[in-house]
Amino acid sequence: MTTIFSKIIAGEIPSDTVYQDDLVTAFRDINPVAPTHILIVPNKEIPTVNDISEADEAMVGRMLVVAGKIAKQEGIAEDGYRLIINCGRDGNQEVFHLHMHLLGGHNLGPIIRRRN
Ligand code: AMP
Repeated sequence: MTTIFSKIIAGEIPSDTVYQDDLVTAFRDINPVAPTHILIVPNKEIPTVNDISEADEAMVGRMLVVAGKIAKQEGIAEDGYRLIINCGRDGNQEVFHLHMHLLGGHNLGPIIRRRN
């Protein structure tokens, strides 16, 4: 269950951490797909959205509050950005420690390509 994200949160491996508090940690994605690409991660090991419980509501709320704060810090709040949480195989989740992608810095286009 433990992933590389727990080691980043604990400061055991290097990362470009931009924010940390008692509930969440945010660090720059190692393989960015946009000028701003930051991962907002609960400090608690929760594999996927499916594993979130009512007891985690404060943490889930904090993830969104922190996303807004970081967007302002990054200077992308006004132009806009995208928040993504991938879940499981069909969601193409690669790291099974819950995380939210904060993407911005240029126009991101439509979120889902239509298959027409
Ligand atoms: P997901 O597909 O939603 O599970 O996304 C996982 C993300 O974690 C990918 O965008 C990776 O580039 C990113 N990632 C993997 N390892 C690291 C790392 N050591 N530091 C920062 N980001 C990472």
